[in-house]
Amino acid sequence: MPADAPIALPFRDPSLTVEERLDDLLARMTLPEKVGQMLQLDARGDLEHIVGTTLAGSILHTSPERMVEAIALAERTRLGIPLLTADDCIHGHSFWPGATIFPTQLGMACSWDPDLVEQAARATAVEVSATGLHWTFSPVLCITRDLRWGRVGETFGEDPHLIGELGAAMVRGYQGDGLTDPTAILACAKHFAGYSETQGGRDASEADLSRRKLTSWFLPPFERAVQEGCRTFMLGYQAIDGVPVTANGWLLDEVLKGEWGFTGTLVTDWDNVGRMVWEQKVCADDVEAATVAVRAGNDLVMTTPAFFEAAQEAVARGLLDEGQIDEAARRVLRVKLELGLFENPRPPDLERQRLVIGSAEHAALNLEVARRSLVLLTNDGSLPYAVGDVPRTVAVLGPNADDPQANLGDWAGASGQVDWMPDGHPRETVETVLDGFRAVVPPTWTVTHARGADIETLVPDPDGPLFPDGQPRPPVSAPALVDPDQLAEAVAAARDADLAVVVLGDTIALTGEGCSTATLDLQGGQVALLDAVVEALDGTGTPVVVVLLHSKPNVLPASALRAAAIIEAFSPGMRGGRAVAELVLGHIDPAGRLPVSVPRHVGQQPTYYNQVRGQHGQRYADLTQEPQFVFGEGLSYTTVEWSDLTLEASRLSSDDVVVAEVTLTNTGERTAYEVVQAYVTDVVTSVTWAAKELKAFRRVTVPPGASVRTRVEVPASACSIVDARGRRVVEPGAFELAAGPSSRDADLLRVTFTITPDGPA
Ligand code: BGC
Repeated sequence: MPADAPIALPFRDPSLTVEERLDDLLARMTLPEKVGQMLQLDARGDLEHIVGTTLAGSILHTSPERMVEAIALAERTRLGIPLLTADDCIHGHSFWPGATIFPTQLGMACSWDPDLVEQAARATAVEVSATGLHWTFSPVLCITRDLRWGRVGETFGEDPHLIGELGAAMVRGYQGDGLTDPTAILACAKHFAGYSETQGGRDASEADLSRRKLTSWFLPPFERAVQEGCRTFMLGYQAIDGVPVTANGWLLDEVLKGEWGFTGTLVTDWDNVGRMVWEQKVCADDVEAATVAVRAGNDLVMTTPAFFEAAQEAVARGLLDEGQIDEAARRVLRVKLELGLFENPRPPDLERQRLVIGSAEHAALNLEVARRSLVLLTNDGSLPYAVGDVPRTVAVLGPNADDPQANLGDWAGASGQVDWMPDGHPRETVETVLDGFRAVVPPTWTVTHARGADIETLVPDPDGPLFPDGQPRPPVSAPALVDPDQLAEAVAAARDADLAVVVLGDTIALTGEGCSTATLDLQGGQVALLDAVVEALDGTGTPVVVVLLHSKPNVLPASALRAAAIIEAFSPGMRGGRAVAELVLGHIDPAGRLPVSVPRHVGQQPTYYNQVRGQHGQRYADLTQEPQFVFGEGLSYTTVEWSDLTLEASRLSSDDVVVAEVTLTNTGERTAYEVVQAYVTDVVTSVTWAAKELKAFRRVTVPPGASVRTRVEVPASACSIVDARGRRVVEPGAFELAAGPSSRDADLLRVTFTITPDGPA
């Protein structure tokens, strides 16, 4: 607040209600001040101009060094309205050197454990809130559809129910005990909605979606986020049926604010408003774009500086009513008041940073999350590689065996979004697979390493280093050639070892926004490396363990399926390498399950399990449609028998809850960490619908030799479809409940039930 600002102004009085304070504040604000509140600008620009002249109410991408200055600048503006500071802390405090970086959302989703995900989000909020940031652009609630899309790793996978539950857990974790909790940060459900329905995986392409299809699959996780109290939403980049989301009044006003009663704040994605002019070309100029954006119900306009003048001009020309600007500014200011920023702008707290950032407690949690994010996909019995104290040699091979950024994945350190961490997170904070083995093997063992292959060479994009909006244009990834010497060195290391661990995957250049891939192949020399190692060790008794350390599923070569075991590790975070070593050596048991299907061939896209019934035949002429690994799949180091699936009642009304019980018997010698997955099929529907949908899941631990009877519950109201008129309804009649360890039909036990129109007979 400026030194001469009157203290007793009502909007500064915390004893008044939020709405009373807002009424007072808005009445004092000029139009430029109100429009300024609607701006969220890139803090890497000229801060004096951003905060002092353009009067931006919010900033993003503020380097640690500039945060204090930014907050102080806002205090010196005429009314001293505090800044709302934001960044993409989407699996940890991404761009704070040494902060705890967890597995990506796709990695975390493999845990199928909302409590664990909530803990990770809470730890993130504790770290983030100590650094002057109020808001994270997370969770991502897009559903994975075409795996070529570069942002698959940012999602919780392909199933709306799983995404909804894990997203809700993240919202709880971030927002803590309520926004007045000093460790709470605002959550942001993004990208609302349908952004992942790409064409050919191409990022932000027009989404071919009807309202009914949106309502059926894409909206439910967002509705769940509103129910959980998520205070902000970010819009997608794409257009649906010709209308950019930024202009979609139906989605923003009718559905989100109307039907769902959302009272929080909406933010566009990066220059969405400008894009309507220069990219999508649906507006002739910035004034028209500002008009369209405000009318559709947007509140904060991210990184479109021209909006400042354009919105004022729109009011001057009578295209917008000042009241419409007031409404948007009110929603921005409301969230500031709810956070208590007028009383305390929550600047960086050095002492708290010292205590919490990258703390031992968070590192321990991170290791647990990493362990639970790993999925054992195949195992010929070679794992766990538990051979006691006999001295052994482990060859840790492959281009991702010792690459810290591959462990962290996108939105962390040197992943390309910010300029203040060119070298990424401090090297010692990341445990690669090589580091993990070195740390975990008995002292008598030897760990060797050879890279064996490169993935890519990076070449500048011929279209230049920047996109028209000023964002950096990523380099183009060209597959690296096979280097015979590098390959021979790795094969020799494998031959000299008792165990070969080959760590393959992708890179940052093959991941993320604008980095969708045309294929799902392991790039560069990787397939040649694996072929050579598997061939060299064939019949020697030396197991080859493949570790897939990547952002999203790859199509696997035949040699991977001949290997002793395959471990899936979606960008497993700072402690991922140690978790992999622990799993291979049997210090922990596999617990993860796939939140996404893994195809055999890129041409099988899409492979999500919950496809709509009806097609001629069930396969391609030249290939099965079955994915290589299905949604929900993952092995244990033991065997579990599933039996006696029963229902408490098999005739129910739509107000009832379907209660099922099933017995899991551990017939092996190690503990089983299972996920009971319950899928529902509506036998006959008025319109075509998914063959089955996940409706409930539950983690269950079964000790060796034990039998556990476990219960899952599905509200009958959740056994719904979206009818031809776009309404979500339960259609009375026959249903099937299937339960088991994966979505594969052969893995599921089944029972039938009926939902009656008038309650149980
Ligand atoms: C991404 C968003 C992100 C925003 C701010 C955009 O390009 O699509 O997910 O939150 O940038 O960094």
